[in-house]
Amino acid sequence: MSTFQAPKGTYDLLPPDSATYLAVREAIAAPLRNSGYGYIETPGFENVELFARGVGESTDIVTKEMYAFETKGGDRLALRPEGTASVLRAALEANLHKGGNLPVKLWYSGSYYRYERPQKGRYRHFSQVGAEAIGTEDPVLDAELIILADQAYRSLGLRDFRILLNSLGDKECRPVYRDALQDFLRGLDLDEDTRRRIEINPLRVLDDKRAEVQKQLVGAPLLRDHLCDGCKAYHEEVRALLTAAGVAFEDDEKLVRGLDYYTRTTFEFVHDGLGAQSAVGGGGRYDGLSEMIGGPALPSVGWALGVDRTVLALEAEGIALDVPAATDVFAVALGDDAKRRLFELVTELRKAGVATDMAYGGKSMKAGMKAANRSGARYALIAGERDLAEGAVQLKDLESGEQEALALDAVTSTLRARLA
Ligand code: ATP
Ligand code: MG
Repeated sequence: MSTFQAPKGTYDLLPPDSATYLAVREAIAAPLRNSGYGYIETPGFENVELFARGVGESTDIVTKEMYAFETKGGDRLALRPEGTASVLRAALEANLHKGGNLPVKLWYSGSYYRYERPQKGRYRHFSQVGAEAIGTEDPVLDAELIILADQAYRSLGLRDFRILLNSLGDKECRPVYRDALQDFLRGLDLDEDTRRRIEINPLRVLDDKRAEVQKQLVGAPLLRDHLCDGCKAYHEEVRALLTAAGVAFEDDEKLVRGLDYYTRTTFEFVHDGLGAQSAVGGGGRYDGLSEMIGGPALPSVGWALGVDRTVLALEAEGIALDVPAATDVFAVALGDDAKRRLFELVTELRKAGVATDMAYGGKSMKAGMKAANRSGARYALIAGERDLAEGAVQLKDLESGEQEALALDAVTSTLRARLA
């Protein structure tokens, strides 16, 4: 029997590269934690209906990309394809919005699943860190979230990304625009599928990536020219706040994004070193989503950043994150008694917060020292029976090669001081 392989469109995160993924998640989360966002975790699957209603029946995510299934008990579930609908569902269910303390600001990190055509930067299992500010309509929140994402990318050292910004209007002005756009689109030479899309979700046609479609879209009516006064003022305020914060953005009148629930502010972070899968993150305002999933009116804004593509962006810019060594001290014992005593010392060091590993399995001195060097540790602790009889161990600086004897009861304090 041949061995198993990871399912198509997925990959495993293995050391040492996995440390970069953890560091990226941490870098995205840090500015959020620092800005009043609380951590939320929701199940990896939900009732399929939540996504059908929350993400939109006409979106690719729901029609083509969702892993939906029926359980033995007859429940219709789906692996989560995105985070916002789940987070809002959880906030509503727990009545977080009723505490009189709006907005509810939450951040999350986890796995998402979409049945897509696998290619570089596009997987069937991927990882996002996201943030949502629920229940308040305030351009400061829209700006805050964009600024925090910008800060996260910059803290990783990324430079070659751009912020695309647009407004999708609201329930007052978007329908008027939708009619005008439909009139325009019906006059074009388009395939069956796209013609159907004109009737269900015409804005998505603007998002079509095919050159022959984009060519025909030149001259399409733009939402920018149809925004109501309220939406216009709101958008100008978001733009002004970003400019005041020194965050550069580009107005992109054709940016609509894949989800149905966006209103007003919509944005995307694109990286120029990633080829076709250039979006590293995106988000926007979703004032109508709560009502779509049965809640009260709760104007909200949020984003999700893709961890996988952010790691690819780091590679594209040649950035190696300064990931701290996993092991500071590596212990090598000669003989069983020495190993027992050294293991006690290792446990003591670990309790004291010193990252410590050791040679296992009766390795020779030579193999033990090889393992010590491979571990990336700064120091090796070496002990044979004779050292221990004298109440000492050998401490070797693996960078300088210097070695000295150290009293057993001084090991922890000495190493803590040297590694501080
Ligand atoms: P795309 O247009 O590339 O399909 P999207 O609009 O579907 O992206 P969102 O739903 O906005 O993506 O998700 C936010 C981020 O999650 C994306 O910017 C991307 O970085 C990441 N992402 C989305 N789908 C995938 C995927 N299949 N594989 C890897 N990352 C993904
Ligand atoms: Mg997509």
